[in-house]
Amino acid sequence: MPTSINYDRRAFLKDTTIVGASFVAGGFIFGNKVPKVTFCGATQQVSGSCHLLETHYGDFLIDCGSFFPENESIPVDANTQFPLFNPKDIKAVFLTHAHIDHIGKLPLLYLKGFRGPVFCTDCTRDLAAAMYSIAGGSDNQELESSVVSTQSIMALLDLFVPVPYEQVRVYENITFRFTEAGHILGSAMAEIWVSGRKFIFSGDMGPDYAPLTRLPHQHDEADFVLVESTYGAAGKKEVDFRDFGRQIAKVINRGGDVLLPAFVLHKTQSLIFVIHQLKQEGIIPRKVPVICDSTSAQKINHVYNTYSSYFKRNVVYKSSTFNKDGLLELNTSKSFAFKKANQNPVIYISASGMLDHANAPKHLSEMAENEKNAVFIVGWQSPKSLGGKLLEPASKTNGLQLPVFNPKLQKVEMITKQINLEVSRWGPGFSSHATGQQILEWVSKFKRIGTVCVVHGEKPNCEALSGKLKGMGVDSVAPFFGQTIKAYHGSTRSSEPPMLKQDNSPVVAPSDK
Ligand SMILES: [Zn+2]
Repeated sequence: MPTSINYDRRAFLKDTTIVGASFVAGGFIFGNKVPKVTFCGATQQVSGSCHLLETHYGDFLIDCGSFFPENESIPVDANTQFPLFNPKDIKAVFLTHAHIDHIGKLPLLYLKGFRGPVFCTDCTRDLAAAMYSIAGGSDNQELESSVVSTQSIMALLDLFVPVPYEQVRVYENITFRFTEAGHILGSAMAEIWVSGRKFIFSGDMGPDYAPLTRLPHQHDEADFVLVESTYGAAGKKEVDFRDFGRQIAKVINRGGDVLLPAFVLHKTQSLIFVIHQLKQEGIIPRKVPVICDSTSAQKINHVYNTYSSYFKRNVVYKSSTFNKDGLLELNTSKSFAFKKANQNPVIYISASGMLDHANAPKHLSEMAENEKNAVFIVGWQSPKSLGGKLLEPASKTNGLQLPVFNPKLQKVEMITKQINLEVSRWGPGFSSHATGQQILEWVSKFKRIGTVCVVHGEKPNCEALSGKLKGMGVDSVAPFFGQTIKAYHGSTRSSEPPMLKQDNSPVVAPSDK
């Protein structure tokens, strides 16, 4: 293994003007500085995806996401600083998809001087614009930790350069292409060629079965690959949407309402589509109204309508079509007025994936004491969230603090409500992430693969997946925050000492964004 030398990375890059040098220890090979990747987020935890690719031709970022502060080991200034690079030095950003943990710090990057292009698919650009506009009046937990300045958003969006899937482009001697990642609509893997090496930044990868999205693209060679590890090395997950439909029908038939907490981006649209299909099959009664009462979610529905060509084959997604089948896109006051005027059962798709925000606490408060009602949990819940507390057995015996409007005081008060409604979990089947088993199969289909870096998973999950990859004979690492890995020709080797090491403590459950 070549020896490493410690130096200031930015100063080194500025001095890198020699062409034709061929020594390896200092970082040159075949006339070019060896490209290297520094991990600036999503290391041994799930949020803050941001990877710095340093090349002979300049510095590039792959994703620039917010950290979720639920993980106590994340520094308090994680969403307000870039400790590992100067934003002014970044020549371009490649975005894999529009989840806030992949785009949330881009406005801050702009504010701190970044002015290069932001390459992504056209759908990701429009979803990012919607997510930033939603963040202004956030009713969504996904956006809570994002750093957004509304003044800079329009200027930032002007920097976005949409690139079609599969089209090869060149920018500043960097050749790149986006291929399908199958995670949410518009999601892509960034495939980058530079200095004779090929990198694949997979971003978040979709499952092998999803209601809406296509399968992730199968690559067959790369020198350096990043993969996610949300589910660690776990195997296949069962999906039984018909059973889900039957359980919903049971609640409806006994006269109860159904509450489905769902993040506004992708989970909401997947639920709208699945419920529509189950109505078509006669599993859920067709006449039951499905209420999407978040204007934020409706913005995302609109983008999904626009890019319907990106859905998997035979999927027709048009919320206007679903309207005919009972989908009601209402605002908050109209939603509650509708229920008051129409006492029949309804299905609410709430805008808050963990029940903490938007209409979700009020819906829960109104539904909690009636045992005919039900909450179907379709995603991971932080133990600190309202959804997490609802899942604890203690909520049945002690009740939960929920908001209740006091007409005398004309204000909302927190009151302990008895939890009599039914609560059920439908987690992994609705996830938009690949299982570990699926990622292992994806890697095993490569004809040639160099180092595989495992990111975007809690520490035990990163290590489990990385361990399995090593067991397959793959050079794999679960990098820590600030670690730099050089991409030597044909295979890659860990190089420099960390600039900042962060010891993240494990969290028990995977994220499910
Ligand atoms: Zn994602």
